[in-house]
Amino acid sequence: MTPAIKKEIRVRIAPSPTGYLHVGTARSALFNWLFAKKEGGKFILRIEDTDLERSEKKFEKDIIESLKWLGLSWDEGPFLQSDRLDVYEKYIRQLLEQNLAYYCYCTKEDLENERQAMLSQGMAPKYSGRCRSRTKTKEKPQVIRFKVPETRVAFKDLIRGEISFDTSLIGDIAIAKDPRTPLYNFAVVIDDYEMQISHVIRGEDHIANTPKQILIQKALNFPHPHYGHLPLILDPDRSKMSKRYSATSIGEYRKEGYLPEAMVNFMAFLGWHPKDEKELMTADELVKEFDLERIQKGGAVFNIEKLNWINSQYIKNLSNEELLQRIKDFGFAVKKISDAQLAKIAGITKERMKKLSDFSELADFFFELPDYSSELLIWKETPRETIKENLEAILKLAPDSGKIMKLAEEKGRGEILWPLRAALSGKMASPGPLEIMDILGEKESAKRIKTAIKKLSD
Ligand code: GLU
Repeated sequence: MTPAIKKEIRVRIAPSPTGYLHVGTARSALFNWLFAKKEGGKFILRIEDTDLERSEKKFEKDIIESLKWLGLSWDEGPFLQSDRLDVYEKYIRQLLEQNLAYYCYCTKEDLENERQAMLSQGMAPKYSGRCRSRTKTKEKPQVIRFKVPETRVAFKDLIRGEISFDTSLIGDIAIAKDPRTPLYNFAVVIDDYEMQISHVIRGEDHIANTPKQILIQKALNFPHPHYGHLPLILDPDRSKMSKRYSATSIGEYRKEGYLPEAMVNFMAFLGWHPKDEKELMTADELVKEFDLERIQKGGAVFNIEKLNWINSQYIKNLSNEELLQRIKDFGFAVKKISDAQLAKIAGITKERMKKLSDFSELADFFFELPDYSSELLIWKETPRETIKENLEAILKLAPDSGKIMKLAEEKGRGEILWPLRAALSGKMASPGPLEIMDILGEKESAKRIKTAIKKLSD
């Protein structure tokens, strides 16, 4: 028996450039990308800019930049719907000719009146279809509608299983404003067909669009792609993720100093989990393990603590040189200090960094000693005079860390190491004093210890 030829897997992400790349869209892009990579398929980027009033070039640019930043490279595209108006027009005319679509002359007010009338009769509002049988008039048509047959549409959702809709509740769908101005549900169907999309994997908020798209496919004799609807991303109070609670655009996370590989790892877990308890997975590992069957149905809570933890782990695992490069790319610049020194600073700071943006605050004292109060130098109940004597003793030994440690063992670690650390950093919290001294070097360390002694003498 010859095995059936497996159809090529072709998936897409189809963002509308009406806002910056949203975390939800990025998560959909990631799942499509993972699926394509896993199955040896193709991932396609399509910019759905048919809504001319709300689409903006700056958003399109952001979407493309942010997807690139995340490393979600596409195999084909970006295709712009605004470049494809001829294609839509051809099919719109076809439906009009076949009498499967018609011009609708109802104004907004007509529709609103109709809606109110249905509501007052306790009916679920939908378009009545009154222009179906209307012949051409001198009035300007408002939209082109697709004749929705009264039937049931069922499909097997890859994530949610069997889903079926009663199409008598839908009403005739507006598919275009005019033959060259298609609307979302129509343009999607044409593009998914023309681009030979095999699987449509998108947010759950599109479930109600799926039966409409299936009906249009049927009317045009198109094959149906498989559908999978991803769970919504929720804020911790389980409401739909919104700006009120969390930053919603990928660009904002980038600006805050999250690493793209940490974002990818984190987003992969928004609705999907590997078989074991692993929490840190590279993109390659995700590709190997990704499986549509393990996508959950229930909403996925966006937990910023978890993102922070994942990000801190990725930062910790970077080499000092690589981390320095990321910090520089992030916009951090200091002159006068060599890259070798800076890499060392990055190295001892990384344990305490959650985000790249933490670096300047955590490491600023290396570049300039902050002003601090002499109280900072005092270890517990130790008298000021003793602390001062200790610092004087340290000054004689510095930068010999072996001798300083010996002194610390004799006199008590806290009494020696705390004032030294405070003198070198001018901060409540910092890495250990010997590490700081090593980076500051003999001259600068001595200068800072002297400053501390002077503060205690005043
Ligand atoms: N343009 C739609 C959106 O941004 C795409 C929906 C789909 O994937 O079909 O939500």
